[in-house]
Amino acid sequence: KPTIAIVGRANVGKSTIFNRIVGERVSIVEDTPGVTRDRIYSSGEWLTHEFNIIDTGGIELGDEPFQEQIRAQAEIAIDEADVIIFMVNGRDGITNEDDFVAKLLFKSNKPVVLGVNKIDNPEMRADIYEFYSLGFGEPFPISGSHGLGIGDLLDEAAKHFPEQHEEDYDDDVIKFSLIGRPNVGKSSLINAILGEERVIVSPVAGTTRDAIDTVYTFENQEYVMIDTAGMRKKGKVYESTERYSVLRALKAIERSNVVLVVIDAEEGIIEQDKKIAGYAHEAGKAIVIVVNKWDTVDKDSKTMKKFEDKIRQNFQFLDYAPIAFVSAKERKRLNTLFPLINMAGENHRKRVQSSTLNEVITDAVAMNPTPTHKGSRLNIFYSTQVAIEPPTFVFFVNDVEMMHFSYQRFLENRIRAAFGFEGTPLHLIARKRN
Ligand code: GDP
Repeated sequence: KPTIAIVGRANVGKSTIFNRIVGERVSIVEDTPGVTRDRIYSSGEWLTHEFNIIDTGGIELGDEPFQEQIRAQAEIAIDEADVIIFMVNGRDGITNEDDFVAKLLFKSNKPVVLGVNKIDNPEMRADIYEFYSLGFGEPFPISGSHGLGIGDLLDEAAKHFPEQHEEDYDDDVIKFSLIGRPNVGKSSLINAILGEERVIVSPVAGTTRDAIDTVYTFENQEYVMIDTAGMRKKGKVYESTERYSVLRALKAIERSNVVLVVIDAEEGIIEQDKKIAGYAHEAGKAIVIVVNKWDTVDKDSKTMKKFEDKIRQNFQFLDYAPIAFVSAKERKRLNTLFPLINMAGENHRKRVQSSTLNEVITDAVAMNPTPTHKGSRLNIFYSTQVAIEPPTFVFFVNDVEMMHFSYQRFLENRIRAAFGFEGTPLHLIARKRN
């Protein structure tokens, strides 16, 4: 998907426009406890176009002076985006800070669409002409607060989207990435995996603009390892900000079938690990939890079980994810990782037959009757799997409201027990049957 970034000095209304563009998409995924949604990166749609959008204003650097903040935000936009929306405030005219941003963008040669915000009514249109002098062609009048002009702005942005070339990997290739906070050992793991015996790395690494893909084969299965971290341009001031690393992680997650959530056995689980894992879960990707640095732990016969219990407690929303315990440094137990990646990848794209599914649901309802409300009972007429990656099930019912979360959870568990979807989240949707 092409990426749009919104740039501009403070208070021009970047977040308002961002939220307008993202809209109130209703997520079919339950909100994950403990995960605050990051509101700087999202996907949007306009007519036939799907795209990702970044609000660079949301990436703030501690106490850097404002010029450095803007410079960093503009650089992020230049590095990450296909098209930049440069936002200015129509009521203020061109300020020095606008000029500063304009110079940075101008040098980048990226397509820039100029949005003049706070043009709330047609009489104010005359105010936009001075913005021609910024050098980005026609200024587009918009009103974030009234939601005006945003369609025209997106039309213009879409003209600059690059040709979409399909990723040229076969369907049965497993694409995976490693996410986790800094220093858990992601790079070490990548090297350790590629260094395994019988791992045959294909000589040509595919490189997309955002990531380096390493293609390799192990026991007749082809894999693509997506490494966004490898593209880091060391030394840039924003590299160490958490929100920027989240942005890179989200991009890697998006292209993956399977996400390896890496945890540091030495340091244990902290809040940031949950947040990172939450992104992969919410994106509906298959997940394997990888406990790295297992060499640093003093072990007895119960150590692994105890660690596993701790993980289950902390990551309740990942109860479907298998756990691998490895040491990248000593290259130990990596052989346990591959089967889990394969299983998660297979289950993520598994389809089950409607006839069998309906038998399972009928049995489930017989075992644990559906909820009732004011004398009427939830009736599940028919169930079917409508999608894979992740497996998505629709239940046709008499009353959607009566499909309580706890009952849905019960049905999910029955489906898992019957079909074995280990490693992948499942989406369950109730629809009213007409
Ligand atoms: P990244 O930031 O997640 O990519 O982490 P790195 O791969 O750069 O590793 C961070 C540090 O942890 C380095 O000093 C590694 O040598 C160390 N490290 C990585 N894996 C292991 C491991 O399995 N055991 C031990 N003891 N140290 C490790």
